[in-house]
Amino acid sequence: MYHSISFSSVPKTRNLVFETPAAELHKLKTIKKVPFKRKMYNLTEVHHINRCNFCQSFGHTTKDCRYNILSCANCAGRHQTKECASNYHLCVNCYTQNSLNSSDPAIFHSAKDLNCPCFQEELARFRKSRDY
Ligand SMILES: [Zn+2]
Ligand SMILES: [Zn+2]
Ligand SMILES: [Zn+2]
Repeated sequence: MYHSISFSSVPKTRNLVFETPAAELHKLKTIKKVPFKRKMYNLTEVHHINRCNFCQSFGHTTKDCRYNILSCANCAGRHQTKECASNYHLCVNCYTQNSLNSSDPAIFHSAKDLNCPCFQEELARFRKSRDY
């Protein structure tokens, strides 16, 4: 089995993605860094978790989106993320989940935030479905 992994340079100027056998991946994961073209790259695993660019929900992509409410990944507003002019972050996924408690400070992050509890939940589900 092959896994896609990406290497991001510091500062994040570009990502290199390539496939590696699972055994090799385990090795790379333990060292967390990889030499490439005489530079050290920090290793980040690409998680194959789809996040819709339209509604920001997990589990589908824009092309499969069944929702008709546009949500911004920065502020959960009704506009495209690239047109966002807000200077605050609000996670639409966490907001929807915590709709009874919308003042919870835990929702003030970008929908793209990797520490987002919704993302983490999705990640845990994804990991359970994988065999490594
Ligand atoms: Zn969607
Ligand atoms: Zn916005
Ligand atoms: Zn969130």
